[in-house]
Amino acid sequence: MKTLKEHCGIFGIFNNSLASRYVYYGLYALQHRGQEAAGIVTAQIGKQMFYHHRELGLVTKVFEDDSLFTQVLRGNIAIGHNRYSTAGDSDNKCNIQPLIGDFKGRTIALAHNGNISNAKNIRKHLEERGYIFDSNSDTEVIIHLLDETHETNLVEALKKALLYLEGAFSLLIMTNESLIAVRDSKGFRPLCVGKIEDSYCFASETCALDLISADFIREVEPGEIHEVNQKGYFVHTFKQETQLARCIFEYIYFSRPDSIIFGHSVDSMRRKFGQILAHEAPIPECEEEVIVVNVPDSSNTATVEYVQECQKLGYKCRLELALIRNHYIGRTFIMPHQGMRVDKLKLKFNPVKEILKNKIVVLVDDSIVRGNTSRTLVNMIRNAGAKEVHFRITSPPIIDACYYGMDFPKKSELIAYQMQENIEKIRQFLGVNSLAYLSKEGLFKAVGEIYNVQESYCSACFTGKHPYPVSNTDTTKMYSKNI
Ligand code: SF4
Repeated sequence: MKTLKEHCGIFGIFNNSLASRYVYYGLYALQHRGQEAAGIVTAQIGKQMFYHHRELGLVTKVFEDDSLFTQVLRGNIAIGHNRYSTAGDSDNKCNIQPLIGDFKGRTIALAHNGNISNAKNIRKHLEERGYIFDSNSDTEVIIHLLDETHETNLVEALKKALLYLEGAFSLLIMTNESLIAVRDSKGFRPLCVGKIEDSYCFASETCALDLISADFIREVEPGEIHEVNQKGYFVHTFKQETQLARCIFEYIYFSRPDSIIFGHSVDSMRRKFGQILAHEAPIPECEEEVIVVNVPDSSNTATVEYVQECQKLGYKCRLELALIRNHYIGRTFIMPHQGMRVDKLKLKFNPVKEILKNKIVVLVDDSIVRGNTSRTLVNMIRNAGAKEVHFRITSPPIIDACYYGMDFPKKSELIAYQMQENIEKIRQFLGVNSLAYLSKEGLFKAVGEIYNVQESYCSACFTGKHPYPVSNTDTTKMYSKNI
């Protein structure tokens, strides 16, 4: 997958003298979830002042000045956020999180991973009620909604306000007395609880806990509010759902393979995708040994298992690392001069000609979005000398947009939607000898469920079955005035 943008990463810690440094490392581990901007907000328990630093750029760049941690980000409570904008302008600095706002005369800070799909309607209503918005991100509606409730207790206000939100929201909210973690009732995005020494912390993925050597305690379950303050640790429920909608794409692409999310290791899920795909669409039958090539990094794990399973099935093939990825291009690389012929994809990948020359190649990737990047990649492999290129995809065709925090292009730009899931037409467009996707049945089998029978995952981008009516999405739904 080369054209998708991840959403956001959040990390928070309560009652730790190194709070801002731990949040920095948490954000560092979660960099893959958002690369446009980063921010940390801190406070000292019991003191009024909030401190913050928020800027555009990667975590290492935003916090490169070490004095930020000694002179600015003081205190023992902290939350942080890595941003990739799924709603709101990416270059508007007011959108950089954590946002700082007011709740009944007290300062709060809020970090959000996900996308509130009915945010525009709620915002319109709040603006009519006189609320002034500093940002144009969907997250700010939460702060004003909280203030709109008649509750003076923040957790009680959350229990009411959150009922008006649709879509995905894993949240961290801090006051100068407490740290609160929230996961939407359908559980779209992951959020986990950790503990280091006597301090509780929260992170989008467990890989962030690993980096700071925190113990993984549990996940924040869908519909839960976790509150930690000096009196203790409290778990509240704001809504119980019968139908969960955990984002299945987290397993395919978004989350790191060394994380545990939704009760499973991402690594083991990706291995199952590769294993099942090997049964559904093994390498082509031929006399000579076939080279199987992963598209780094998100297809690495699935490819390893795909090859092993094909070998078990009796196919002659071996894994080769024939595509080398340059990890050092930031999001803001300088575009070459117009006269220079530098392919954008080449900035990221280079094929190893010696491996590919005169070989039958099976390329394995995690997904295809518009198709242009995949086609260029296939050309690259052919130009490196491969005599055949076959393509295997460890997820089903993407046919619909995501309203829950993932920056897919418009539905009309998706190649599988354009071609009405006609695999032969997509094959021709990509210019490959054969093409196969993991089936929807195979995808659900991997996560231990039965497609169309027993589902607790969102798969709307593959199936068009949306957890919320699409007609509600920023268009028709109005929320009640009196909350
Ligand atoms: S539409 Fe796709 S990417 Fe979006 S939440 Fe659902 S499964 Fe995840």
